Amino acid sequence: MSKSRDPRTIAAANGVATDSAFGAVTPPIHLSTTFAFDGFERSRGHDYSRTSNPTRSLLAETLAEIEGGAGAVIVSSGMAAIDLVFSQLRSDDLVVAPHDCYGGTHRLLCARRERQHFDVVFVDQNDEQAVGEALDGYPAMVLVETPSNPLMRVVDIRSIADRAGKRGAKLVVDNTFLSPALQRPLLLGADYVVHSTTKYLNGHSDVVGGAVVAATQSDAEVLAAWANVVGVTASPFDCYLTLRGIRTLFPRVAQQQETAFAIARHLERHPLVSAVHYPGLRSHPGHETAKKQQSGFGAMLSFELKGGRDAVRRFVESVRIFTLAESLGGVESLVAHPATMTHAGMDAEARRMAGITDALLRLSVGLEAEADLIEDLDRALALAAEPALEQPA
Ligand code: PLP
Repeated sequence: MSKSRDPRTIAAANGVATDSAFGAVTPPIHLSTTFAFDGFERSRGHDYSRTSNPTRSLLAETLAEIEGGAGAVIVSSGMAAIDLVFSQLRSDDLVVAPHDCYGGTHRLLCARRERQHFDVVFVDQNDEQAVGEALDGYPAMVLVETPSNPLMRVVDIRSIADRAGKRGAKLVVDNTFLSPALQRPLLLGADYVVHSTTKYLNGHSDVVGGAVVAATQSDAEVLAAWANVVGVTASPFDCYLTLRGIRTLFPRVAQQQETAFAIARHLERHPLVSAVHYPGLRSHPGHETAKKQQSGFGAMLSFELKGGRDAVRRFVESVRIFTLAESLGGVESLVAHPATMTHAGMDAEARRMAGITDALLRLSVGLEAEADLIEDLDRALALAAEPALEQPA
């Protein structure tokens, strides 16, 4: 397999017309849990589907090639992917994680620390001094989530990879928010990329899945072996759907981010909005870094509403095209209230430290027409601002 194919070609064409049995153009799904041996001690490559499966292997190869990695492990959720990487640590190891990471990641790392599986420090990764002090503790791994969920903070991957590398730490980047269509952290010095494939990679909100892509073959093999030991590998059906989603990853994300940019600009001018967090805006503190390391600004944004919790409630109850729901990266537009939804697992103090206020709303922008989405937001903002309009005449 050539390593120099354009990622768009890999996404669209991987596995196409490779079926030797019937010449199926679309790669077939292999649901079988077990595979016949050719003879005594003669495996045909796949023995048992927890260990390896042709449909899952195709997804792993596809994703590893798109991310520029040496190998990938496909697991049952994004959380399983993150846990798989950190499962290699020992009780005297230290992890440096962002203070504003996804709430589930925060919960996982705290739970592992509580059980003394390893130690964790959460830092503001845009604070040079805080990062320096954390690295002085010689961590085994540094986790970066860029752009972060939900505040869209951007971390310079190359710079933190250099600094972590000097301390002997491995760098793990959660690339869920952009997908390899817009950012390829392994090419910037990361050792692992983790994904919730639930999001942009599958893209149709019908699979919960995860992946780890490793820069080296040996790291990929260690993680694949452990995924088999603990039994977190993904089902072939989910892998089949995710492969199907990846075929349209690039055009989906391109269209979605164009609309997200227009929405961010629109919200920035709205009198009821006190702040917009979108790396494409010049006002965003991570704009220059995002321009340098991303090939687009993505389709996620968050914003803060004036008028407190009541305005937030009126807004989320008034949108018609945006659906009030967790998750992101699908073809449909979603709105979430991080403080009570995605980040409710973080205690109030941790949310305050991370800057996640009760006024913050997060948008995942889908494939609907830009004008319809902006009209939906404007209507909901008007209703949020003026509760009297909600009352029937
Ligand atoms: N990483 C990020 C950035 C996420 O947003 C999420 C889920 O929202 C996860 C990881 C966890 O993924 P999953 O829900 O597939 O376990």
